[in-house]
Amino acid sequence: MNSETKAREANPKKQWSMQDFEIGKPLGKGKFGRVYLAREVKSKYMVALNVIFKEQIEKYKIQHQLRREMEIQTNLRHPNILRLYGWFHDAERIFLILEYAHGGEIYGKLRKTGHLSENQAAIYILSLTQALAYCHEKDVIHRDIKPENLLLDHEGQLKIADFGWSVQSRSKRHTICGTLDYIAPEMVENKAHDYAVDNWTLGILCYEFLYGVPPFEVESQRDTFRRIMKVDLSFPSTTCVSAEAKDLILRLLVKASSKRLSLQKIMEHPWIVKNADHMGICR
Ligand code: AMP
Repeated sequence: MNSETKAREANPKKQWSMQDFEIGKPLGKGKFGRVYLAREVKSKYMVALNVIFKEQIEKYKIQHQLRREMEIQTNLRHPNILRLYGWFHDAERIFLILEYAHGGEIYGKLRKTGHLSENQAAIYILSLTQALAYCHEKDVIHRDIKPENLLLDHEGQLKIADFGWSVQSRSKRHTICGTLDYIAPEMVENKAHDYAVDNWTLGILCYEFLYGVPPFEVESQRDTFRRIMKVDLSFPSTTCVSAEAKDLILRLLVKASSKRLSLQKIMEHPWIVKNADHMGICR
């Protein structure tokens, strides 16, 4: 943002309103509202405005959750975490002023190309690991990392979006198939869980980036759960993936959460070092 916008951002007393923005094309539709491209009138800075209907928030009783997650995301500053610059509301709606991710969802890219190259997958996994290490340092567990929540900016840099607030409701988990595919065994079993659930999800994503589908995907929810619980993992020979990549996946998809590779060890893993580290990504 430019200096004026930054100054407003730094001054929490300065209220944003609809008058500050010109609304552009729709970017997408979420469970509780719509996302639009918008331009801040004075600075001409492009942002994404997520318009959430208060009625929906009340219906799903997520007022407190939404507020907490908005506060979390506002305070996170990392190149791979989508910025939430601020918010405002009117009688019916809440408006979240978000960093605009020009490249859209990683999910779209994955569906278009089938699967990603090892270089690209390693760069994304390293970016995610660095962002999650930053979150964990601040005692934030994402718990809902999945391709739909990963956006790309105009340079193709990965941005984690959606800090849980839009997907906490159980009903979304029923409507969006595939969400279950990313859940760690301890969550399936309804046991207490900690940071290690994000490490599990990194294993799932690494697999999905390289093979195009998450590892435990099957038609029925019950069978997906069963496969997760058994860590029923196989590497299809139809896609050629290096032994080092498979090694990383196997070290992350470990049922005992304390035995999963730590984020630091992921950054040092030979597959990451070989494929992503030389890209000049700083730790
Ligand atoms: P959400 O309500 O957050 O699930 O967003 C719905 C859709 O809008 C997403 O799937 C994205 O395709 C798009 N979208 C959300 N936020 C942004 C953003 N900051 N920049 C670009 N597109 C976005």
